[in-house]
Amino acid sequence: MNDRLITVVGGSNWDMFTYTKELPKAGETIKGTDFKTSFGGKASNQCVQAALLGSKCSIITKLSQDIFGQNILKNYKDHNVDCSNITIVPDVPSGIATIIVDSHGENEIIIVGGSNATFTTTDIDNAKPTIDKSLLLLCQLEIADEINLYALKLAKLNKKTKTILNPSPMPKDLNLVKELLEYVDILVVNKHEFNDLAAFDEQHKGNQNTDLKHMEEKSKSIFSRHTQLNVLIVTLGSKGQVLITRSNGCTMIESNINVVAVDTTGAGDSFLGSLAHYLVESSNEPEYTNQKWVDCIKKASKVAAISVTKYGTQTSYPSIKQVEDFKF
Ligand code: ATP
Repeated sequence: MNDRLITVVGGSNWDMFTYTKELPKAGETIKGTDFKTSFGGKASNQCVQAALLGSKCSIITKLSQDIFGQNILKNYKDHNVDCSNITIVPDVPSGIATIIVDSHGENEIIIVGGSNATFTTTDIDNAKPTIDKSLLLLCQLEIADEINLYALKLAKLNKKTKTILNPSPMPKDLNLVKELLEYVDILVVNKHEFNDLAAFDEQHKGNQNTDLKHMEEKSKSIFSRHTQLNVLIVTLGSKGQVLITRSNGCTMIESNINVVAVDTTGAGDSFLGSLAHYLVESSNEPEYTNQKWVDCIKKASKVAAISVTKYGTQTSYPSIKQVEDFKF
């Protein structure tokens, strides 16, 4: 394994989608219209997207011995992901998301943590040699906060590993995120998450304005509170992204990509995995200039845009060949 390694820590899920005309009421049994399954979990999605683009990836995750866990393990192997930090846990179910979608697009979701809820700090300690070798460590917030905190702290003990946090799903207690941000170099959020974060600053509470000047102002207070943090990227769906760096302030990266979006589920994870890939790919260049950040974001945005042209999450993620061949 070379020094261009991306390590992702977090949960792996098996997603089950049941489609119906109307959502069932309590105690009611109804007929469904369709059923689909897919690999899921933000860590899993981000890792697989980076691997599809050709990055060397390792995942720190916990899987059940059940049939779903076995399938998830095979999925990682099929994508050449390093599985040496996957722990198989006996006697617990897989992480399962049961999603019921009605004909109006409304849904009801139940998530069972299963094996994802069995993470301990020992799992992170065991993966330390891999973390130490990694250029990037990616975390999201689907597993226990103390595990993410432990992993981020461990990564920041060495000078080599840069940390990326995608604080999704955003917890109700924002103090948790505050604590994590002490060990984060690069923060990637969507516009809702950005506004939640900015609401730490009481002055801005409840203000949902995402114009550039306003974002720059908000990000200044985020940077001043979190000294490790140097780069903040806000994704704005089809509109593009905003890059905010400690040294260069705000740059709006407008999307000039025209695609017909059929399903945007998982686009955020596709963007994260792709960004990690392009950052690592260009890591041999002498420094991360503002232009280099812009270039990596533009490339990641192209990959995420391709993902919204197909249904599903991982099933919609393009390989590097598909990215090169895609006609916009
Ligand atoms: P999700 O939760 O749906 O996975 P998100 O809310 O975390 O996504 P978004 O800002 O909606 O994040 O999307 C992430 C990235 O995906 C965007 O920055 C963009 O590159 C791409 N993207 C999303 N929607 C579209 C779209 N309709 N057309 C083109 N690209 C898109």
